[in-house]
Amino acid sequence: MITPVMPTYARADLAFEKGEGPYLYAQDGRRFLDFGSGIAVNTLGHSHPHLVAKLTEQVGKLWHTSNLYQMPGQEKLAKRLIENSFADTVFFCNSGAEANEAGIKMLRRYQYVSGHPEKNRILVATNAFHGRTLGTLTAGYSEKYREGFGPMPDGFDRVAFGNLNELRNAITPNTGGIILEPIQGEGGICCAPEGYLEGVRKAADEFGMLVMFDEVQTGIGRTGKLFAYQWSDMEPDIISSAKGLGGGFPIGALLANEKAAAAFTPGMHGTTFGGNQLATAAANAVLDEVLKPGFMDHVLEMSRLIVDGLEVIARKHPGFIEEVRGMGLLLGMKTKPANVDVVAKLREFNLLTVPAGDNVVRIIPPLNITKTHVDEALVAIDAAAAALGK
Ligand SMILES: *Cc1c(COP(=O)(O)O)cnc(C)c1O
Repeated sequence: MITPVMPTYARADLAFEKGEGPYLYAQDGRRFLDFGSGIAVNTLGHSHPHLVAKLTEQVGKLWHTSNLYQMPGQEKLAKRLIENSFADTVFFCNSGAEANEAGIKMLRRYQYVSGHPEKNRILVATNAFHGRTLGTLTAGYSEKYREGFGPMPDGFDRVAFGNLNELRNAITPNTGGIILEPIQGEGGICCAPEGYLEGVRKAADEFGMLVMFDEVQTGIGRTGKLFAYQWSDMEPDIISSAKGLGGGFPIGALLANEKAAAAFTPGMHGTTFGGNQLATAAANAVLDEVLKPGFMDHVLEMSRLIVDGLEVIARKHPGFIEEVRGMGLLLGMKTKPANVDVVAKLREFNLLTVPAGDNVVRIIPPLNITKTHVDEALVAIDAAAAALGK
């Protein structure tokens, strides 16, 4: 008999009833160190006092009015995202896939209003993940996720992630935009090679295309910058954000420069819930912390501690870790045993992680963890390595 909750996930046999900082407490009393952050969502861990205070305050005042009215919380959040990025303007929605759908529409409509309706094709990458709607599934790489759901939308051409020559060769008079993750998350924490993002920008400028980055997983301080593109020497035209933006409250955003956003005039795009008062209260509270001086240095310091610790474990248990990659606290440990077995074993040692493509175990803790938490996680990883890394 089918379960009351539609069985779209193979769930672990674990239910949590309380969270505090990077810890989750299960119904059976066990305490887990959460280095998965609800898939890179709980930017500040669980029940962060500032988020609790700000959301509690907002819950008693106003939840939702719709986007038919002025929304000061959205304006404040938009201004802060703009002040800290390339963007000139922001559209708020509810999830990563929804932000990416808005981005796909913006790329196409930009070309349409610029007198190039024929430039309606978008270059996308191998190994990419952009969400589960029909459009974002088509932009994504996984054939498995599309199987049986056709017909799919048209208009995407795929190139090998990281290969600039292939990208340039794939450009036709119909190519109007490029969508990439600066670091591929679900694909297995794959970083773009040195100079790739700058080369993408150059090609886009040469051929009249827009560049959109999917920063749903890489954004909001996860890599040690507010957005991962800020490690490069270029600026995109559009980025999508979600996951960490609300610290656990659902909110997505599409950030764009004025040129790209000229595609959207009133009535061209919308959402009922997007950026409501509760969601923007949560996201503004997240930014209160993430934008504090020294916050990003802390992310990078914790990252170094984890990477150094993993290198020690790799030497001690040669059968366990193949490679450590990523930036900031978006780290991937490619393991020799099956990643799902490693994730399950780590769970036995009360450490939560998330699997990704290419046999990678994602280590994506809350950004405000301390050295004590890192040490505790490394003990669990060492124990799992001893058990599995024969
Ligand atoms: C998670 C993710 C998405 C999808 O976000 P949802 O909120 O699940 O729709 C899109 N792109 C990237 C890079 C992601 O990591």
